[in-house]
Amino acid sequence: MSGARRTKKSGKYIAEEVPFLRAALKHKCPKCGKGSIYAGVLKVRDKCRTCGFDLKGHDAGDGPAFFAMFITSIIILIAAMIAEFVFFMPLWLHLILWIPLTIVVSITFLRITKSILIALQYKHNILNFKDGGSKK
Ligand SMILES: [Zn+2]
Repeated sequence: MSGARRTKKSGKYIAEEVPFLRAALKHKCPKCGKGSIYAGVLKVRDKCRTCGFDLKGHDAGDGPAFFAMFITSIIILIAAMIAEFVFFMPLWLHLILWIPLTIVVSITFLRITKSILIALQYKHNILNFKDGGSKK
């Protein structure tokens, strides 16, 4: 059932840790680093397709949304101010440009921050995530 790579160290095989940031930025399973954690755009799979790790135990909550909104608002605000004060864009162009761009950038950062939080929860075994998660 374990999809984690194993290395031989002093005569014993031990599970090799997957670098959490690499797994997070590629949206991969924190245990094996191979299977995708997303079933859709933002929905996290119940189980890893590669190693079968139970991903339901994560509790990312609203944390990723906060960080994604924070990062997105700074990027879009600075870009909109540059567009306004340097290029003197008309109002209708601001609306056409920034509304879709805000949606795309926020979903992109939401996927990244959610992956990072799930990988961190696995790395630090928050709520016994490595053992299948806390039973609520
Ligand atoms: Zn996996």
